[in-house]
Amino acid sequence: MPDSANVNAAIDAWTAALGAEYVITDEQTLAGAETATFATSQRIKAILCPADRDQVQACVLIANNRRVPLYPVSAGKNWGYGSRVPPSDDCVILALGRLDRIVDFDEKLAYITVEPGVTFEQVNRFLKENNSRLMINVPGSTHQASLIGNALERGTAHGLNGDRWTRVCGLEVVMPTGKCIHTGLERFSGARASKVFAWGIGPSLDGLFSQSNLGIVTRMTLWLDPIPDFFQYFSFSIDQEDSLGGLIDNLQSLRRDGLLETTCGLYNHYRVLTYLGQYPWDESEGKTPLSSELLNRISGPLGGGVWFGEGAIIAPNREIGEIKQKHLRARLRGSVDDLSFKAPNEENPLIGHCMNTGLSSVYWRKRSAPPEQMDPDVDRCGVIWCCPVSPFSGKAVSRCLEILERTMVAFGFEPIIGIQCLSIRAVYVLASIVYDRNQEGHDETAMQCHDAALRALADQGFFPYRLGIQAMTGVSPSTDDYGWLLRTLKDSLDPFDILAPGRYDFRQEWPD
Ligand SMILES: Cc1cc2nc3c(=O)[nH]c(=O)nc-3n(C[C@H](O)[C@H](O)[C@H](O)COP(=O)(O)OP(=O)(O)OC[C@H]3O[C@@H](n4cnc5c(N)ncnc54)[C@H](O)[C@@H]3O)c2cc1C
Repeated sequence: MPDSANVNAAIDAWTAALGAEYVITDEQTLAGAETATFATSQRIKAILCPADRDQVQACVLIANNRRVPLYPVSAGKNWGYGSRVPPSDDCVILALGRLDRIVDFDEKLAYITVEPGVTFEQVNRFLKENNSRLMINVPGSTHQASLIGNALERGTAHGLNGDRWTRVCGLEVVMPTGKCIHTGLERFSGARASKVFAWGIGPSLDGLFSQSNLGIVTRMTLWLDPIPDFFQYFSFSIDQEDSLGGLIDNLQSLRRDGLLETTCGLYNHYRVLTYLGQYPWDESEGKTPLSSELLNRISGPLGGGVWFGEGAIIAPNREIGEIKQKHLRARLRGSVDDLSFKAPNEENPLIGHCMNTGLSSVYWRKRSAPPEQMDPDVDRCGVIWCCPVSPFSGKAVSRCLEILERTMVAFGFEPIIGIQCLSIRAVYVLASIVYDRNQEGHDETAMQCHDAALRALADQGFFPYRLGIQAMTGVSPSTDDYGWLLRTLKDSLDPFDILAPGRYDFRQEWPD
């Protein structure tokens, strides 16, 4: 814990470097930043709002001199994983929202270079204004999330190329000591391919800065997706749980054969109900979780479906698109109970400049309707994600779902689950424990449920693709010298441990 004389001296120095307006210490704002969508106890000393990379470096130097830890956030919408709250106590938040420039853009080569404060909304607006035929898909929470924060967490999206981290290059990174490095070819002056070629020459360093605490990313290039000339949205459903394994194997074969090039999303009936409305408090007479009888009663609008899916066919022209559609329809028909296609190129949530998100779903267990300006932290929505990765096989996914469903029901939560089929090999199973933080005891039960699910999944070989701040010590220990390597890197790159201590550094495994 930094001593208070050092913190005060650091605050004076940051105030001199940034201006008083950009060093926030008022209790109310700090309390807001200490609030997530689950219980946290970490205190925050201040919030710094630098305007550019030079100011970021100045902040980092002061943090080193005074040994005060910093926690960088870009837009700070990491809901369900900790929001803006650092994993360890007494950090100062480095809020990068003022670094909000779109630095470079190329329509032909389909890339955009941005600073950390640039949001999906800003980029989609920019693309529209420039009559661009490019798109970037938005995370399911909000278009006010940042491209860089989402990518660094290795976030996902529906539609084209949903695995964000595979679409980045040319990072500019302020190191924990204040030095600045660039990844890929960006380190060479005038390198022509620095925004279109990720590897550079020599060891590829990008991975060191995602899900880590080894640097502050102040610039990144993301590859955008050309909107295809032909796209066609389709949706489907199944009426029986035990048809799911076969459907998943079928979807895998469709992806493998190139008939399905977008991420395919699957949602169980609980998840769909959270999109459509809120918990039936009156009918349930205030009891949770949802009984199967009540579930059946309120599932009328779902037409008997228990799992729902969506995807899109894409093609360079109508002729090829229609052939793909014919084959996809024939191969999918046998494993679904309902299948429908939108008209070609009709507006849809997967392709194009779409801003749709499902944030209202986290108000499922609240007693009042979602407000116009939704903020799950302020509104005390309870959300904790538990998101294991599974091989793309019906058998493996069914096993993973079984564990999640059993655990969530045992702790009194609806098993609200989605599946994102991101590649031909792996899927993310996305379970959200959704509750009302105002209900006494639910913060504790929800966290116990999350921890039990994480343990039970790991016992069966399923590990999460991403962790919340409360779960950084929750995964099983490595069976090799991974802890030693992380410690060696951290000690040498961040000798005073000032950058996001405890964030994905697995220090509980560090050798003495
Ligand atoms: C209903 C709902 C749906 C959601 N759907 C999705 C989804 O579809 N896909 C998805 O990926 N997520 C989803 N999320 C989770 C979350 O909202 C998104 O991942 C969101 O993009 C994260 O917020 P952000 O982009 O503002 O990142 P931030 O909160 O700014 O950053 C995330 C973390 O990355 C680190 N970081 C941020 N910026 C930097 C930097 N410049 N340098 C170093 N480290 C940095 C910090 O530790 C920070 O805590 C969902 C959440 C909810 C509640």
